[in-house]
Amino acid sequence: MYSKRFEKETFKNDVKENVRTLYRKEIEEATPQQIFQAVSYAVKEAIVDDWLATQKTYEKEDPKTVYYMSMEFLMGRALGNNLINMTAYKEVKEALDEMGIDLNVVEDQEPDAALGNGGLGRLAACFLDSLASLGYAAYGCGIRYRYGMFKQKIKDGYQVEVPDNWLKDGNPFEIRRDEYAKEVRFGGTIRVQYNEQTKKEDFIQENYESVLAIPYDMPIVGYGNHVVNTLRIWDAQAITDFKLDAFDRGEYHKAIEQENLAKTIVEVLYPNDNHYAGKELRLKQQYFFVSASLQVMLEKYKKKHKDVRKLYEKVTIQMNDTHPTVAVAELMRLLIDQEGLGWDEAWEVTTKTVAYTNHTIMSEALEKWPIDLFSRLLPRVYQIVQEINRRFVEQVRRMYPGNEDKVRKMAILMDGQVRMAHMAIIAGYSVNGVARLHTEILKHQELKDFYEMMPEKFNNKTNGITQRRFLLHGNPLLADWVTDHIGDGWITDLSQMSKLKPLADDPKARAEFMDIKYKNKERLAKYILEHNGVEIDPRSIYDVQVKRLHEYKRQLLNILHVMYLYNQIKEHPEMSFYPRTFIFGAKASAGYVRAKEIIKLINSVADVVNNDLSINGKLKVVFIEDYRVSNAEWIFAAADVSEQISTASKEASGTGNMKFMLNGAPTLGTMDGANVEIVEEVGIENAFIFGLSSDEVINYENNGGYNPQEIYFNDWDIKRVVDQLMDGTYSHGDHEMFRDLYNSLLNTQGGDRPDRYFILKDFRSYAEAQKKVEEAYKDPDRWAKMALLNTASCGKFTSDRTIQEYVDNIWKLDYVTVKPEA
Ligand SMILES: *Cc1c(COP(=O)(O)O)cnc(C)c1O
Repeated sequence: MYSKRFEKETFKNDVKENVRTLYRKEIEEATPQQIFQAVSYAVKEAIVDDWLATQKTYEKEDPKTVYYMSMEFLMGRALGNNLINMTAYKEVKEALDEMGIDLNVVEDQEPDAALGNGGLGRLAACFLDSLASLGYAAYGCGIRYRYGMFKQKIKDGYQVEVPDNWLKDGNPFEIRRDEYAKEVRFGGTIRVQYNEQTKKEDFIQENYESVLAIPYDMPIVGYGNHVVNTLRIWDAQAITDFKLDAFDRGEYHKAIEQENLAKTIVEVLYPNDNHYAGKELRLKQQYFFVSASLQVMLEKYKKKHKDVRKLYEKVTIQMNDTHPTVAVAELMRLLIDQEGLGWDEAWEVTTKTVAYTNHTIMSEALEKWPIDLFSRLLPRVYQIVQEINRRFVEQVRRMYPGNEDKVRKMAILMDGQVRMAHMAIIAGYSVNGVARLHTEILKHQELKDFYEMMPEKFNNKTNGITQRRFLLHGNPLLADWVTDHIGDGWITDLSQMSKLKPLADDPKARAEFMDIKYKNKERLAKYILEHNGVEIDPRSIYDVQVKRLHEYKRQLLNILHVMYLYNQIKEHPEMSFYPRTFIFGAKASAGYVRAKEIIKLINSVADVVNNDLSINGKLKVVFIEDYRVSNAEWIFAAADVSEQISTASKEASGTGNMKFMLNGAPTLGTMDGANVEIVEEVGIENAFIFGLSSDEVINYENNGGYNPQEIYFNDWDIKRVVDQLMDGTYSHGDHEMFRDLYNSLLNTQGGDRPDRYFILKDFRSYAEAQKKVEEAYKDPDRWAKMALLNTASCGKFTSDRTIQEYVDNIWKLDYVTVKPEA
């Protein structure tokens, strides 16, 4: 029993009382949403006990703390996860059962906290789970977007974006902390004034606009260890409510502007994944949460410690991609202007405190702010960036005399732009990639110059995922089965999954494993019928590609292959073909036209194929609307095949691949990102690998690309499929609808090489791998063995392992144990 709060009768009473006090209702009259709120408040009370105990422990033991700074935290739902990590899920489920309440229905009332786009935001969420579960002091620092990732509706096959008003019913788990509110300033000018007392120059910002940053804290519950860390996300408010004297001084406009700034700054999450748009508001968001987080961090540190010169002994800051990199200059500003340190002292502190994670090598994702924008918005911060740059360029010139090419390639300020990645690398004491292959490409291609100059900074931390959410919560049938066979140690030590390996040769275990998969496939079929109105057969192969829609992820390759299979089945009705359900789920950035065309194509193919009675349901195509963390949990549990088919070298790691593996779905993929390490763990015979290697891709790219027309004119199956984009087959005779996709494959497009993601180049190899999938699936024993071995070999891919590596090699945090309050 976790605590007396979760004794059934106590808990039931708490829920009933909460309904009465929150809604002045008896529980029988409460709506499902009201019951969700009442249950969540009952759970929160128990969390708060541990949250306080954790704070007390940190207060007393003063462990080194990581501040994980991220523009995105893709948390998903909290209730079920909190119950899981408090080890109270089953007790609460039973208590609610006795009240005639279904916990699944209650959980379903909670909107996802979708404060992120995809992999990068979900990684941040998994890291917080692991940090708390492993007993390390950590803050997540981010933005409390009023509107998170948009909700996706599919209308007439097209994506329609609907605002995600996730806070409309209130968020029962958050706590507003007015006492930590901080001012953040934008714009204006800097006046330099000599200070007689300090004998230094003061830099005084004048005529600025400012907002008040107000933190909301969300509990991050560790698994079964009473540790509760904090995700601190910032809301914005106008600094003063409407001041009457503002009118008198003719500052009416300024007052209104500050109201508007506060309103707009946290209004919405930018829905771009792996793509940089360069919007002014985005830079405001970045500085806003970074400055507020650093101010509170310093204040907290100074309560216990006199000397900010030793900040790095107690604090480390991890920058999740370049998005929070303004932290480098902002920390310098606070240390110099506010704490009175000299440049060299401040630089030493900063460069021992901040570390940087690189998430992509794709040039369209690299953040480069125009200098005029950056300097106008952050005038003092910009002065500091200039000085960082000046000193660094000096250093490059010392190291490479006469080599101005090096300066051009490595400077922070160049060609009118502030290159954020360069600042992160130059200031960071650690620079890490997110999978072995990705880190090698960073060292030897993209960041070669930096690696040569400062090799000691570079290291790899292969991403991971939390098994608590993606198996224990998402797949309770398989979780129980695993526990029955090897005990429950896997929940906090995923390497123990290897103890399942012998079961791959046990016919009974294999049958049980596949029976669980079948039940999860039925659960997903029901969801798809309810949400999409499409009936799918749980006996068919569930071939799944769920992830953000991006050209490099090659959903287009997948759907072109479906079109090819459809042609085959139509042409050779007698051919043996194992029934297959192709399941897609993907949001496209609202402004990413080609990605949206691919969604339309998938739905158009689905329309034709699903309604063709002549193929006897051998092929089905389903596009799951609004792919997000909550439905992802069910999708992974039900998948037979994991599609990880990015152009080699483009997917830094991938984490979806790991969730599929954990749930027993073999990978059909390229040797890209963490797929390489997945294959290494599970054995190449238990995966389906195809396509160009990253070296081959990079080679083509460095030599002008390849000629897709050669393939198009020589492979008639490919030509036919590509032509079907133009002949009206999937567009009710409209020859224009998919012309841009057709052109992207065959013709130079606005400076882009034809088929820059090597879709036609990899098509045959992909089709052959798909053939092998079918052959393997037809042999149930062989398939069950493969699937089971994937689950059994997933130990490396827990975020617990990733976080332990960050702690050991980068952060050097102290391990903490928390004793529950008596
Ligand atoms: C894991 C996850 C992702 C990342 O998937 P990739 O296949 O690695 O791109 C994106 N969105 C959600 C909801 C996820 O759970």
